[in-house]
Amino acid sequence: MEILKSERILCPCCMVEHEVKTVRLMEENIFKDEPVEYVVEYQFCERTGDFFEEEDQLEQNFLAMKNAYREKVGLLTTEQISEIRGKYGITQRNLSLLLGWGTKMIKRYEECQVQDPSHDMILRKLDSSPDWFLQLLEAGKERLSETAYKKCLANGMALLEDGA
Ligand SMILES: [Zn+2]
Repeated sequence: MEILKSERILCPCCMVEHEVKTVRLMEENIFKDEPVEYVVEYQFCERTGDFFEEEDQLEQNFLAMKNAYREKVGLLTTEQISEIRGKYGITQRNLSLLLGWGTKMIKRYEECQVQDPSHDMILRKLDSSPDWFLQLLEAGKERLSETAYKKCLANGMALLEDGA
């Protein structure tokens, strides 16, 4: 267990003001029938010996578990999905629209939900093929603003030239 910081606060665990430590440790769990191991962060009350999570830690720990699962079963992690999107300089909403996945799907994939394998393949194809991105962009042009379209077009073209 690694101690990241120590702060004197009113401990929500024992309701007494004392030094509460933020700690990092490995956790094991089962997600979708797969045993997974990942790094988590907790608050630690030394008076009771209990660990507790603040809201952002709860979210991060849950995400860490899902990313460990993704890596284990060979799916893109949330970070990789956001990197692919970043290469093309496209927003979560616009990429969802171009792929015909509604408006929130990419946001969900980057923040919580584990993508289904067919969508994972599509995202990988997008990663390796700027050419295909440009085709999607042309086909879905009217769903994007003029500015967003031009920006994505320029990024897609630049990536295509880099790869050629
Ligand atoms: Zn306490």
